[in-house]
Amino acid sequence: MADVVDRAAVETDAYIADCIRQQRKPIEPPDEDQYGRYCLGCGCKINLLRLVKVPNAVRCVPCETLGETKEHGRRG
Ligand SMILES: [Zn+2]
Repeated sequence: MADVVDRAAVETDAYIADCIRQQRKPIEPPDEDQYGRYCLGCGCKINLLRLVKVPNAVRCVPCETLGETKEHGRRG
């Protein structure tokens, strides 16, 4: 009996620790070289105009749009 409870508690702790670790994890540095910055999603070069508008952008417009769509879910 105690084993099951202990195990559940350990698993929950591990899960919470995992969440905390993920939140604390520093944002992945953008991949860039002298030619520009590359999207973390697809690896293509991020549009310069986008970097002017969003200096800390780490994804290209299509990837950002896809991510937003996924986060918000589909309607209907
Ligand atoms: Zn991309």
